[in-house]
Amino acid sequence: MEIRKKQRPDIYPIADCIKCQQETESFEHLTCCLQDAEAWIKEEKRIIEETWGKLDPEEKVNCTVEAFTRAILPETLQAKDWRSKAARGIIELRYGENLMNLGFSKGKARKLLTHFLEEWLRFFQNSIW
Ligand SMILES: [Zn+2]
Repeated sequence: MEIRKKQRPDIYPIADCIKCQQETESFEHLTCCLQDAEAWIKEEKRIIEETWGKLDPEEKVNCTVEAFTRAILPETLQAKDWRSKAARGIIELRYGENLMNLGFSKGKARKLLTHFLEEWLRFFQNSIW
């Protein structure tokens, strides 16, 4: 897309994001456009709660939804990098380690992150992209 734009400015004259009209529209930008900021926060909260809801009752006692959220979602400052990787289907190992530190087995941590990522990608593809 970038190359075609340069070769044929007559066909691809607009490089700005259609949502914010500011940044050049790129895959990276899709994960951090300010126009989507609220939607991301709302949807990530919903997906976290839905994933946490799948835990067994005794697991919920040992791991509150707040602790679960802190284990999977990064602090605000790192969110941009986190989303850019998640959009490519990548969640870094340390998030799985965070879950294991909360007492989940490696297999369970993987299962939870896989479920979270699948839901997250569905939102990304349906509502953002
Ligand atoms: Zn934008």
